Amino acid sequence: MSGGLVSTGGSNGARANEMRANIVIVGAGPAGLGMARVLADLGVPDVRIVERERIGASFRAWPKDMRFISPSFPSNAFGLTDLNAISFDSSPAFALRSEHPSGSEYATYLEGAADAFGLTVNSGVDVHGLEPDGDDLMLHTSDGPIYASFVIWAAGQFQYPSDGDIAGADLGVHSSLTHRWSDHPGEDVIVIGGYESGVDAAIGLAAAGKSVTLLSRSANWNVDSADPSVALSPYTRQRLSAALQNNSIELTSDADVLGLERIGEKIRVLTSTGHSFTTSSPPILATGFTGSTTLIAEWFAFDGQGSPRLTLEDESTELPGLFLVGPEVKHEQHLFCFIYKFRQRFAVVAQAIAGRMGLDTTGLQVYRMNNMLLDDVSCCDGDCVC
Ligand SMILES: Cc1cc2nc3c(=O)[nH]c(=O)nc-3n(C[C@H](O)[C@H](O)[C@H](O)COP(=O)(O)OP(=O)(O)OC[C@H]3O[C@@H](n4cnc5c(N)ncnc54)[C@H](O)[C@@H]3O)c2cc1C
Repeated sequence: MSGGLVSTGGSNGARANEMRANIVIVGAGPAGLGMARVLADLGVPDVRIVERERIGASFRAWPKDMRFISPSFPSNAFGLTDLNAISFDSSPAFALRSEHPSGSEYATYLEGAADAFGLTVNSGVDVHGLEPDGDDLMLHTSDGPIYASFVIWAAGQFQYPSDGDIAGADLGVHSSLTHRWSDHPGEDVIVIGGYESGVDAAIGLAAAGKSVTLLSRSANWNVDSADPSVALSPYTRQRLSAALQNNSIELTSDADVLGLERIGEKIRVLTSTGHSFTTSSPPILATGFTGSTTLIAEWFAFDGQGSPRLTLEDESTELPGLFLVGPEVKHEQHLFCFIYKFRQRFAVVAQAIAGRMGLDTTGLQVYRMNNMLLDDVSCCDGDCVC
């Protein structure tokens, strides 16, 4: 049975080794590699990581000007793991000498971590889908079928830009697809979307000497919350505040953009209130990302906000044996969308799988001691008093 004890007999035993593993992890970003490290610490045998490109591919595709908003600091020795580390014994700040690494720097950290942890990644294997097959889960891949007792989906979100269902969106450019802000054509640029990506784009464009109008449904820049999944991060606020002093960014809230249309040489941006904005430069769509679970959506139930429904062990409620790690994990209203959040669920998944395989999980104590095992999802409601 999928998700049950691993069997090497019967039809599973007849499968060639290259076609079968106990566990297949899809994706070699921070989630896939961090997860693999925990399984390695527990001595779980026969874990295979498959990756469509190479380690850290999403980070290598980041716009060159983009930096981590969550800061790195080599604080591990005092029990406070670097916020962007995938394990309690590594630190991007230490490895990269950088507090806000670029995407390519972070990919270098990931490569070093995989090397240090002895993780082998099967690169160039694209997973197209999966389905149950007897006692196994069968992955459809560019290398043919791969069978596993457990699949851990760690395929991220960055590679799946969303256009926010804006009509005429092809007249704009998604924020993740702009190489450098200075390369963007035109002097007056409209940015659609006022969360982290939109504000980051506005700051980058302004720094490149452009005049920016940022259109947002709500004034996120005024939202106060101790949770950076809800409010702008301090790093972004601080840079926005400096950019606003130059008057190169105009912030417009209550601007729910419905569509883009071409009027001669110009592009008109229409909002639900009937206002319109005209520009001769392709608007930047900072309209977010669709999670990679859309590739295997038939094996998840989704809540009203489009998040996959998970058990308390981060297993699909629809398909036993299929686990999710990474930024799409959500419990109650808590989004585990930053590395320092979702890394705390790796040990929960490892505990579930290793437990079902009859393996000793006492090795996870060190994860709990290092705040890397968060199994109480009612944890995160606290706000800050100052
Ligand atoms: C613009 C942006 C900025 C962000 N900034 C921060 C930040 O500052 N701090 C922070 O903590 N978090 C940040 N995040 C959250 C971010 O999602 C995570 O930090 C991180 O990228 C998620 O790691 P991951 O391993 O789940 O996904 P990824 O890093 O995307 O890794 C997924 C891997 O899976 C591979 N893959 C995808 N599909 C398949 C497939 N079908 N078959 C095989 N392989 C596949 C990809 O090639 C990729 O290597 C940001 C996210 C975005 C979108």
